[in-house]
Amino acid sequence: MSRRIGGTNLTKLEWICAQDRNELLGTWGDIPALKLRAIVEGLGLRIAYEPLGDDDGQIDLSQRLIIVDSRLPQKYNENTDFVAMANSIIAHELGHFRLHRFELRAGEELTFQHEHEAFTYAEVFLMPRDQLRDHPSMLPLWQAFKAGKADHGTWWRHVYQLAEHFQVTPSALNHRLNGLGLECQKTTRRVASVSRV
Ligand SMILES: [Zn+2]
Repeated sequence: MSRRIGGTNLTKLEWICAQDRNELLGTWGDIPALKLRAIVEGLGLRIAYEPLGDDDGQIDLSQRLIIVDSRLPQKYNENTDFVAMANSIIAHELGHFRLHRFELRAGEELTFQHEHEAFTYAEVFLMPRDQLRDHPSMLPLWQAFKAGKADHGTWWRHVYQLAEHFQVTPSALNHRLNGLGLECQKTTRRVASVSRV
C-alpha cells in the first residue's frame, strides 16, 4: 500500500485522524460521508439545523449537539451543494469532539491550531487517501499532468467528479488534493517526479 500521493508523506496529524476514522468506520468500505450521520449519532450526539452567526457549524457538548447553520443557503452561492457542505461541517465538528472534547469540557477557548486539526480531520474522514487514489478520475488527472496538459478545465472537471463521488464540495476536494501535493497550477514539475500514485 502506498502512503504517498503527489510526493507528500503522511503527516502525524493525518495519521492520527486516519486511525480514528478507521476505528469509527470499522468494516465500512463505502463512501465515508454515507456513514457520517450514523457515526455521530452512535457517539450520542444529535445534529440540528439552527441559525448561527458567522460560524457555519458549532458543537455544544452540554447538549451533545452538533449545529449546522440553517442559513447556509442565504450565506453562500445558490449553486453550492449544501448537503456536501453540511458533510464537511459535521465532520469538522466531529473532529473537535474526537480530538478536543477534553478542552471543550474544560471550557477552554479553541485556538487556530485546534481549528486546523478539525479541518484536517474532516478532510481525512471524508476523503481517505486510498479511496481517492483508487478512484477512476485520478488516472486521467495524472495522465493529463504527465502529458503537460494540466489545464484548468481538465482539473476542475475531475475535481467535480471526485467531489460528487465523495459527497463533498469541489472546493473541499480541491483543498484535499492540494494538501496531497496536487495543484491545478504549477503542477507539471511536481507531478512529473511521481512514479506512482
Ligand atoms: Zn472548528
